[in-house]
Amino acid sequence: MDWQHISRHISEATGEPFAVARAESVGGGCINSAWRLRGEQGRDYFVKGNSADGLEMFAAEAEGLAEMAAAGAVRVPRPVCHGTAGGQAYLVMEWIDMGGGGAGARLGRELAAMHRATRDRFGWHRDNTIGATPQPNTWSDDWVAFWREHRLGFQLQLAARNGAPRAVVDKGERLQADLDAFFTDYRPVPSLLHGDLWGGNQGVARTGEPVIFDPAVYYGDREADLAMTELFGGFGRDFHAAYDEAWPRDPGYAVRKTLYNLYHILNHYNLFGGGYAGQAGTMLDRLLAELRG
Ligand code: ADP
Repeated sequence: MDWQHISRHISEATGEPFAVARAESVGGGCINSAWRLRGEQGRDYFVKGNSADGLEMFAAEAEGLAEMAAAGAVRVPRPVCHGTAGGQAYLVMEWIDMGGGGAGARLGRELAAMHRATRDRFGWHRDNTIGATPQPNTWSDDWVAFWREHRLGFQLQLAARNGAPRAVVDKGERLQADLDAFFTDYRPVPSLLHGDLWGGNQGVARTGEPVIFDPAVYYGDREADLAMTELFGGFGRDFHAAYDEAWPRDPGYAVRKTLYNLYHILNHYNLFGGGYAGQAGTMLDRLLAELRG
């Protein structure tokens, strides 16, 4: 990474002089390289790096972080600047000292508050990525149509191209045709969503504040965020209880969460292949059985 270039960019963006003392590689990311950039004056930044063609992904991530920060509900790292230098794309944000704990209930309340930031349509003003997969966010007045085309349909088409079993794709297409049945007496509002809220994208600052990061922001049904918190674990009972106290879930969530998590499992198939096709098939069977029941 061209730390001199990045340091100059930080100075320009913040209006404060910044001189790099050293860059320490930090682990944990799935897709990007990451560093703690230590400044000589004691101010640090978190920097992600990727190949130059990752710039659009970082631009979308920076805008997503800014959108969540503007809601003023959950703490997110403030984006500082992004660009390319020396053939590599970079994204700089505020460094947050993690390592606190026991913030589940507070995160539940604060996430409910973030979901109260709404728009009059579903989608977002720009596309972004979910993992490394493109995520289209074309504005739509109709949530079911949005989910059918830009979430389920998009991943199903990718899966078909990636060689998913025909039976899985067929079931997915049947589900697409009957999607309205899951929304007969439920009208979601377009809430600001993190969009990729698995356990690895949350932390607790040393100050005790919950922090969420690495988003795939759009405006959609808040149940989609909640469903993902249940997909791979990492969010406790206190989180869910506090969320429901702040903004109770509709009873139909119990069924729709499989629909929402199917998107992420199809995406995992498209990113990693293997057993995720089988898992998607099982989820589809469950959803299609709901339609028959
Ligand atoms: P990736 O896009 O590669 O998945 P993440 O954004 O998830 O990377 O960040 C990787 C890890 O770095 C996280 O698991 C988290 O522990 C840590 N991290 C993320 N953002 C910050 C930050 N602003 N300050 C300090 N640590 C952070």
